Amino acid sequence: LTDDFDIVITGAGAAGTAAAVSAAEAGRSTGRAIKIALIERGNQNDWGGNSRWTTANLQMTNTDQVNSTLYADLISDSQGMFPKEHASVIVSKAAEVIDWVGKKGVTFEKLKLRTSQPRMAPVGGGFAIISALRKSAQELGVEEVFETISYKLSQDGSGAINGIYVRDKVGRSRLISCRAAILSGGGFEGNKEMLARYIGREASFVAWEVPGTRMHMGECINMALEIGANPSGQYSGFHGFAVDIRSNAPVPPLVLGPSLGILINMQGVRFTDEGVPFDSLESITQAIIQQPENRAFLILDIKSRSLPGFETMIGTEIPPIEATRLDDLADLINVPRDILLDTVAKFNRAAQSGGTDKASIDHLQTFGISPKKSSRALTIDKPPFFCYPVAATVEFTWGGIETDTRSRVVATNGSPIHGLFAAGEIVGLNYHHYTGGSSVMRSLVFGRIAGAEAAQLTFQEKS
Ligand SMILES: Cc1cc2nc3c(=O)[nH]c(=O)nc-3n(C[C@H](O)[C@H](O)[C@H](O)COP(=O)(O)OP(=O)(O)OC[C@H]3O[C@@H](n4cnc5c(N)ncnc54)[C@H](O)[C@@H]3O)c2cc1C
Repeated sequence: LTDDFDIVITGAGAAGTAAAVSAAEAGRSTGRAIKIALIERGNQNDWGGNSRWTTANLQMTNTDQVNSTLYADLISDSQGMFPKEHASVIVSKAAEVIDWVGKKGVTFEKLKLRTSQPRMAPVGGGFAIISALRKSAQELGVEEVFETISYKLSQDGSGAINGIYVRDKVGRSRLISCRAAILSGGGFEGNKEMLARYIGREASFVAWEVPGTRMHMGECINMALEIGANPSGQYSGFHGFAVDIRSNAPVPPLVLGPSLGILINMQGVRFTDEGVPFDSLESITQAIIQQPENRAFLILDIKSRSLPGFETMIGTEIPPIEATRLDDLADLINVPRDILLDTVAKFNRAAQSGGTDKASIDHLQTFGISPKKSSRALTIDKPPFFCYPVAATVEFTWGGIETDTRSRVVATNGSPIHGLFAAGEIVGLNYHHYTGGSSVMRSLVFGRIAGAEAAQLTFQEKS
């Protein structure tokens, strides 16, 4: 590796590989030499961050069409905070970018999920996308630097980016000079200090993680903030699910069924509405992470275990903890028995006996209790009783830095920082509620834009 490049990209996930290919294609199509480096923390077996591990659901009805409600969903899920110009670009460019990825050899299929909108996904998941883009980048001459992190930006006297400091796995640091830097290193879900600082004190008790999330130490966010980038996105927010804390399964041991019973914390107390719709499960995950040690227990009785669809809502391979009496269950999970009995008694008074017919119990609500349970409010009174111990997993964080729709990083005074681009999770777009199936899509769309813009800047500076 020489220490002199036109463009240095940090992070070989969906955004970074898309940026690398797009910049290299801009060079090839104009016949101008352009030197590009792709810096990646991972090694040959674990590179690719979250993109490597996701199924990469996409909010699309077909490869040439995004869901008709996507724009409205991005805006309404975020309570109007998702930048409208970015939402427009995602919606207008998604089909084009999927076609572009398809031409690199990735095929897409329709998924059958319980989401309210249709979804498609690449065959082979996110790994298929980043593998195809990486191969394309290699063929176009992009130089890869693995097992190395970027940690600091360098600016010239006018504030323009002129280099980036990197550190290899044996601890050697050096400055690589460049005309443009593209930051695509994801969020801060792997950084316990940042999780505790921004999301909550108990968030450093991270639960089950995919290996990709551990790669996200937040350096790219911090190095941009350090030189005056504007923070953006909800720093206290994240996307994740409740997972079985006992499991070491290679796929997330999701417990998607809080609505089947009640959730209590280690003190034996309910703390959230367990009956929110499936698309709003994130509110439950965000409540769990604020509980002591990021820990909760899903308590069920035999009625709830017999409900239709139970198996599809409990994705852990480990059987529940079981007892014929509630106080014995309390002992087994080390929760104060008098408080658990009181919590269940109060809940049962506010709940309705109902039947086990899914359609009718979906409308059962509690009365006169806080927090309420807004659906499936069935009493918990028929032994045996069951428990799944769960914790919130942080799949990706929402706080990051602001970019304009050209993927240029914006400073706190609203002006672009010359030579600095960013794309993917690192860009803070989400607030309140994440619109499922939009994250890989936006990483690809804005990664591709970042690469093309960085190439243009390089051409201008060289001419
Ligand atoms: C289990 C799971 C399921 C998901 N499911 C979906 C889904 O179905 N649909 C969807 O749209 N989204 C989904 N997501 C989210 C989605 O995968 C990510 O938001 C998206 O892939 C992010 O792409 P990215 O390029 O920004 O980051 P990543 O793909 O995470 O890539 C970032 C890269 O940067 C590298 N890196 C980080 N810091 C540095 C540094 N300082 N120096 C060098 N390299 C660095 C990392 O090693 C990594 O390779 C899911 C996430 C998870 C964890």
